[in-house]
Amino acid sequence: MARIAFIGLGNMGLPMAVNLIKAGHQVEGVDVNPAAIDKLKAEGGVNVEFAHVAAARADVVVTMLPAGKQVREVYLGNNGVVTAAQPGTLLIDCSTIDVDTARAVAAEAEKKGLLMLDAPVSGGVGGATAGTLTFMVGGSAQAFTRAESILQKMGKTIVHAGGAGTGQAAKICNNMILGISMIAVSEAFIMAEKLGLDHQKLFDISSKSSGQCWAMTTYCPVPGPVPTSPANRDYQPGFTAAMMLKDLRLAQDAAKAAGANAELGAQAERLYSAYADSGEGGRDFSGIIRFIRG
Ligand code: NAD
Repeated sequence: MARIAFIGLGNMGLPMAVNLIKAGHQVEGVDVNPAAIDKLKAEGGVNVEFAHVAAARADVVVTMLPAGKQVREVYLGNNGVVTAAQPGTLLIDCSTIDVDTARAVAAEAEKKGLLMLDAPVSGGVGGATAGTLTFMVGGSAQAFTRAESILQKMGKTIVHAGGAGTGQAAKICNNMILGISMIAVSEAFIMAEKLGLDHQKLFDISSKSSGQCWAMTTYCPVPGPVPTSPANRDYQPGFTAAMMLKDLRLAQDAAKAAGANAELGAQAERLYSAYADSGEGGRDFSGIIRFIRG
């Protein structure tokens, strides 16, 4: 059993923390939002008011925060985790953030004798609740080996992607594929409508042909073919368009910094930006089909 400080108990963090509690770990939760704390308490969790207090006595610190700004603040700010944690503490940041921030925080942590991993996830709130997330992990082999048994309580597929920042790199590459492929699948369904081809028929064919992809077979953007997809519940998230836009922006920033050509990623970012600006940022990202349909 480890003593774990869990910082950021939102849509994803809360169910992840609950799975660690169920696995018998001693979890001390921290969040700036009192409503998040109340939810943790209702699940049998313990609240600690300040991140530095929880970090100072933790074996492991897990963070699940909105973006790079909050990650920098929590780890490197006044009373930050990096200053407070004892040497040898394992730090696991599961937030989706930019590669540069992940590497900068890891470098500071290493200077203090801490082990740091960037470990963003795929699988959404459903995967967080079921404990079936995919973790893409960047950092040293030593840190990865220590983290595996903890991550296995929250996820099913855990991949060591390489050194610091490569977990974040994997996440934005993956989500760029997803953002682009959801648009491609949406355009195909709209074209099918105009050509008199039934949604179900296109699904039956493409899900077994070379057009097959996750956006088609698991998260189909039209109601009917995949009963669990958000299209069947008026595009309630799921994974919001605003979150997809955040990840596509991270991907574009990374592509520019690295000199990688990502034209379709840029076009996907523009479309999701327009979709979110139309007031649908809180809707599931697969709802982009309605925006494309016009
Ligand atoms: P969320 O906004 O629901 O949760 C973030 C939590 O962090 C909130 O409870 C907030 O109060 C807390 N917080 C913010 N600043 C803090 C601070 N300084 N100290 C302590 N707590 C603080 O977001 P989420 O949906 O749980 O997503 C978290 C991360 O996971 C994001 O980086 C997101 O991109 C990524 N992600 C989300 C999903 C999804 O489907 N929601 C899927 C994969 C990855």
